[in-house]
Amino acid sequence: MQHKSTRGKVQNLSFEETVMMGLADDGGLLLPESIPQVKDYLQEWSRYSFSELSLAIMLQFLEEEIAHDDLKKLIQQSYASFDHPEVAPVVSIGTLSILELFHGPTYAFKDVALQFLGNLFEYFLQKRERYLTVLGATSGDTGSAAIYGLRGKKNVHVFMLHPSGRVSPIQELQMTTVLDDNIYNLAVEGTFDDAQAIVKALFNDLQFKQKYCLGAVNSINWARILAQIVYYFYAYFRVQPECQDSVIFSVPTGNFGDVLAGYYAKKMGLPIEQLIVATNQNDILHRFFTNGQYHKKQVIASWSPSMDIQISSNFERFLYYLADEQPEKLCSWMQTFQETGKLDIQGSALKVAQAEFGSVAVSEEETIAIIREYKDKYQYILDPHTAVGVRAAQQYSAKNPVICLATAHPAKFAQAVKTATGEEPFLPPALSSLQKQESRCRVVAASVDAVRKEIVHALG
Ligand SMILES: *Cc1c(COP(=O)(O)O)cnc(C)c1O
Repeated sequence: MQHKSTRGKVQNLSFEETVMMGLADDGGLLLPESIPQVKDYLQEWSRYSFSELSLAIMLQFLEEEIAHDDLKKLIQQSYASFDHPEVAPVVSIGTLSILELFHGPTYAFKDVALQFLGNLFEYFLQKRERYLTVLGATSGDTGSAAIYGLRGKKNVHVFMLHPSGRVSPIQELQMTTVLDDNIYNLAVEGTFDDAQAIVKALFNDLQFKQKYCLGAVNSINWARILAQIVYYFYAYFRVQPECQDSVIFSVPTGNFGDVLAGYYAKKMGLPIEQLIVATNQNDILHRFFTNGQYHKKQVIASWSPSMDIQISSNFERFLYYLADEQPEKLCSWMQTFQETGKLDIQGSALKVAQAEFGSVAVSEEETIAIIREYKDKYQYILDPHTAVGVRAAQQYSAKNPVICLATAHPAKFAQAVKTATGEEPFLPPALSSLQKQESRCRVVAASVDAVRKEIVHALG
């Protein structure tokens, strides 16, 4: 299968080229040139384990590009790090089904994609005898999932910047207790924005970028979306084992990567009645699906920080389909948004968008109230991101079964849980033992030169 950019100037890329390029060279997002149709396989796939299903779905997209046995190994290796035999179990709570995506090494759903992406990077780099230096800035969650995805991988070094003293203690420990030789944690004496500005500056230093083969593992990498498509199928089969009827998915949403994977699953032929985009008070997507106005606003800090976004970096992929796969049309939309911070979609295109996606914006009070309600009624503790999805689901009819994606373990967001229930959530042993473990981190000044020096010193 070939891949192309939403902006039309990059085409005919293999899967490997797509994964290694990340963001398309023309500034667009990469996607497959066609979408495999799999309706005829549903009955058979419904009995597959998570890893078997991953293999079957990825083969549809990759065809012969990675040898069958190699791909199978990459997948098995990726999900062996999960602490649940099913990888992504579905539990029934009240009238809802909850797809638990937090059984990976960092207890958040990003592990599902990043464990796979880490193995894929290593596989491609070793094959070509190439090296990669992953450089990133994190305010918490993504950094630890990337570090766990890449720790110990050959031909890859990781420099992860976080704002010193400004990430939660658990998140900091999750990153700094990883002692593998290829992982470098840098605590920047500044804010997250300072850290991100330093990363940007180093990527813009083309000589430096080339010398050290700088790369990123951000949420727009196509391989991450591909890996996430799998659990929509897996969850569907748990709820509809005979493939008899369609379902609704409710998805806590920030950068639109997770729910976009659901959109692809639907396009492939999985019977999904609707996808609910659940946002917190940072509701640019909810406003879009309500009245067609995609207008940028300031970010407001919330109980669900991993969804605190100004714009959604993956949304361009959906807009591309909304623009009837015409790059010129998409480019003019993106240019308007770039220049004015506003994009307005009306008429038939808006109707199409609304037919695919429902949306709900959930307030801070509602988030806390639903965590309390689930604790009281069902003794089930929701993390604040999952809570947003569960609250949104309540607004939709129970005509079809509703599956809510649980994106983080509640122990990672103890303050919200304590505010809602009066008690700290149960801390899994792997998290509670972090405090006793050795950690390693270098504190650096918030300057481009200080970070550049660290990289040069480490890699020579
Ligand atoms: C990243 C994240 C989300 C949002 O996912 P997107 O793909 O960015 O929409 C939701 N919940 C948690 C816990 C996350 O880490």
